Amino acid sequence: MQIPGHIDPVTTGTVPLRGGNRVDLVGLTREGVRAALEEAGLDAKAAKLRAKQIWHWIYHRGVTDFDAMTDIAKAMRPWLTERFIVGRPTVREAQLSNDGTRKWLLAAADGQEYEMVFIPDADRGTLCVSSQVGCTLNCRFCHTGTMRLVRNLTAGEIVGQVLLARDALGEWPKGNMAGGDQDDDEAGHYTADGRMLTNIVMMGMGEPLYNFDEVKGALKIVMDGDGLALSKRRITLSTSGVVPMMARAGEEIGVNLAVSLHAVSKEIRDEIVPLNRKYGIEELLEACAAYPGANNARRITFEYVMLKDKNDSDADARELVRLIKQYRLPAKVNLIPFNPWPGAPYECSSPERVRAFSNLIFEAGISAPVRTPRGRDIMAACGQLKSAATRPSRAELDRIAAEKQAALG
Ligand code: SF4
Repeated sequence: MQIPGHIDPVTTGTVPLRGGNRVDLVGLTREGVRAALEEAGLDAKAAKLRAKQIWHWIYHRGVTDFDAMTDIAKAMRPWLTERFIVGRPTVREAQLSNDGTRKWLLAAADGQEYEMVFIPDADRGTLCVSSQVGCTLNCRFCHTGTMRLVRNLTAGEIVGQVLLARDALGEWPKGNMAGGDQDDDEAGHYTADGRMLTNIVMMGMGEPLYNFDEVKGALKIVMDGDGLALSKRRITLSTSGVVPMMARAGEEIGVNLAVSLHAVSKEIRDEIVPLNRKYGIEELLEACAAYPGANNARRITFEYVMLKDKNDSDADARELVRLIKQYRLPAKVNLIPFNPWPGAPYECSSPERVRAFSNLIFEAGISAPVRTPRGRDIMAACGQLKSAATRPSRAELDRIAAEKQAALG
């Protein structure tokens, strides 16, 4: 959909099909799978039944080979293989941090690259998922922001990240479905208990609300009860503040909201998150106050990156508290020590400064934990993602030129 204004999302090019002329079923809605089968020649009743079975195999079992779909008649499996695939992104590189964080560089069918990160914790495992190749928004603390936007990811490419993570973590149930109804197969069913991948954050490369339809499609699949079945309470969508899309995100997707706030004054936020020039702090906080489903049990997370001498003073902390109270926001603040990257224009606040900032917010009754940096050694930490095969965006080139000019003059 078109979003008005000067920083518009751009979808560039048509994404080729991963399986040549075959249709990739990953990313289609349930109805889409049924329609694809019917279009390929099945009658309505058969298409409905097969779609249900295939859906279960793809999203509950992680099966990619039609031959392994044992409750589908043997004779039908080659027919499916000729016409369809169950795709996965190609893994270009997989890295493991010494703190257990994993990062994958993935490639789409057209060779475009994007990253996903898995962060294991004692009580949860969080997959950080990308929504775009590159980003239009040029947040100054963010490595991805130095890339130009190449294109939006499709719903299939977004949900494909979750499927691939399940593959890599060995998290598909192992039970045997041969000859039986899936509901009889107790051995194959699992619950959230003991799973490694328990949470998803749309916080990888890109601004998810500039790719609304595909992100929505992907998350609906992730939440579907007969499949990945992740609760909306375990999914968080992070936005830099695309105000016009926030209400729709709440109503139509309904997941938790995180907002990249990072500053409390217009001057500083204009610099750190340039989208602020379009949708200012007041407008953004009003949209947060109106976010459907936000309440004290489901608070909005405000992400705040700690930048030395930029946004980390006591006055900044007090202003943050004042704003949260003024707009009566059910909020928690996530303080992120800045994760450096080559050429980054900022430094991280000192640990003492971060603690003092956090304490001031806690003292006002608002939770403000400091996020432990994860995966810094493999450039997997927050704000560090950037796929290699890119050139600087126009905005980035303009900025470099302006800085050179200023230095000369
Ligand atoms: S923080 Fe998010 S929205 Fe901002 S440049 Fe980075 S990827 Fe884009």
